[in-house]
Amino acid sequence: MGHSTKTHLVCMTLPFQGHIKSMFNLAKVLHFKGFFVTFVNTEYAHQHLLKHDGSVSALAGLPDFRFACISDGLSPPDDRDEYRSEDATNLIHANQKNCPASFLRLISALNDPSSGVPPVRCVISDSFATFTLNATTKLGIPNVFYCTVAVCGFTDYYYCKDLIERGLVPLKSEDDLTNGYLDTIIDWIPGMVTLRMRDLTSFIRTTDRDDASLNFSIDGAHASHQATAIIFNTFSELESPLLRACSSMLPPVFDIGPMCLLSHYIPNDSSTSSLGGLNMWREDLRCLEWLDEKESGSVLYVNFGSVANLTSKQAVEFGWGLANSECTFLWVIRPDLVVGDAALLPQEFSEMTKGRSFITSWCPQQRVLAHAAIGGFLTHCGWNSTTESICSGVPMICWPFFADQQINCRYICSVWGIGMEIDEDVSREEVEGLIKELMEGQKGKEMKRKAVEWKEKAVEAAKPGGRSWRNLEKLIEEIIME
Ligand code: UDP
Repeated sequence: MGHSTKTHLVCMTLPFQGHIKSMFNLAKVLHFKGFFVTFVNTEYAHQHLLKHDGSVSALAGLPDFRFACISDGLSPPDDRDEYRSEDATNLIHANQKNCPASFLRLISALNDPSSGVPPVRCVISDSFATFTLNATTKLGIPNVFYCTVAVCGFTDYYYCKDLIERGLVPLKSEDDLTNGYLDTIIDWIPGMVTLRMRDLTSFIRTTDRDDASLNFSIDGAHASHQATAIIFNTFSELESPLLRACSSMLPPVFDIGPMCLLSHYIPNDSSTSSLGGLNMWREDLRCLEWLDEKESGSVLYVNFGSVANLTSKQAVEFGWGLANSECTFLWVIRPDLVVGDAALLPQEFSEMTKGRSFITSWCPQQRVLAHAAIGGFLTHCGWNSTTESICSGVPMICWPFFADQQINCRYICSVWGIGMEIDEDVSREEVEGLIKELMEGQKGKEMKRKAVEWKEKAVEAAKPGGRSWRNLEKLIEEIIME
């Protein structure tokens, strides 16, 4: 086989499901645009993908698409079959300690004339995989950051530094979590709507100035000053004041999204078009057949993503809320979703919801959300889930868990008008009430109407020739091929 003459891009992801899927979509889009792509993951995450997702081996046959791994020096979380995300603190330390050198080694190996691949022209790096800067600076090649959180999420992390300087963070004591302190108004973040502290990242809810997650987020956001350019997985109508504010302070900013929709528009004859999204758990496709039998807009889809956890008490409240609402629902319960008591829901729950429920452990979410039977999404507000819901015109019930999910929830509910928030301290009565409102109430109808409007705008941006593709072409011309 002759060597490829294409321009070689290396896409470095973080080993979390949401980041991996999002970067993979971008990698597919770049491959479709004619690049040679090496998709890099950590060894542990890659091994799990090999086990659970056929796409990985299917791609192994493509001439211009490769997988590669770096070692982050962590031993696997434990030796079982089920995937579990790395503990964030471990990952952060490993990132700082081992990844700069192992990533440099990988790029040097790819650049070796005997490697059989074209020399690396540019690195596309998850914006929180800042260790890639070590290699790109040494080699003098561009490093384009891909921000897999929303611009509101990014801005939130960025301004946590100011919250610290203003003495608002860390909290003075644990009491601040419950004494109203989190209702303090924040109205000075450029481009951001007026917020309460509780709408900001959950990482500020600490009394420790050295909290690893808080500092990782702040450092990650500020490292984008060192990027050659930044891609945001969004579209301009959705976050234009924030995009403007970011453009005025950062390296060149490109809104190229929603990435889940861009990748959807890759033509059918392209070699990556039929591939899935790199799943850490096996997708249960039977739920699609089950949905086929249901009436249009009649099913509530419930999924808390790949990282969030519920206590058994919370799971029981959600369960009874679903049962009492009398709605038809598809609930994805990941093997590690519930912490604590494994006996999740009593027999009575199964009897009450018989014939109107489908429970499984992982599903093809984008296809589920796009299914006509889905009328609403009870979500943890991860950015990928949020954009996938928007792209399908599905309104949401929001129960943000952590990280950027709180700010996404704020924008979903108060700015975009397509969601209703469940109190952190979830109760079955509230769940039942919100489900009824979403699926049958006046407010639900209004949110559905707005969700469809947002979907149309997303399609405008992401369809061939739309603003996101034009921005991608601009990025290729002005940054990657420059
Ligand atoms: N996902 C999926 N099947 C599931 C649950 C999630 O394919 O059963 C996908 C979902 O479509 C999204 C990603 O996993 O692309 C989760 O990312 P998100 O940012 O929403 O949340 P996170 O998992 O990072 O908290």
